[in-house]
Amino acid sequence: MMPQTTARVCHDCDGHATAHITTGTRAPDGTRTTLPVHCGTCHGTGTTAPRAVKAATR
Ligand SMILES: [Zn+2]
Repeated sequence: MMPQTTARVCHDCDGHATAHITTGTRAPDGTRTTLPVHCGTCHGTGTTAPRAVKAATR
């Protein structure tokens, strides 16, 4: 049996849509400076909707 889901996990980021990259520098308050990078495929959603999806249900 195959469970049906409305959204599929993005193949590019495997669901981890936003990755925080450490730049190596530190902010004046001591915290590490990180850059949030969103996946270009799912645009940070972590899921990809099937392309041919339209409002099939009425
Ligand atoms: Zn993605």
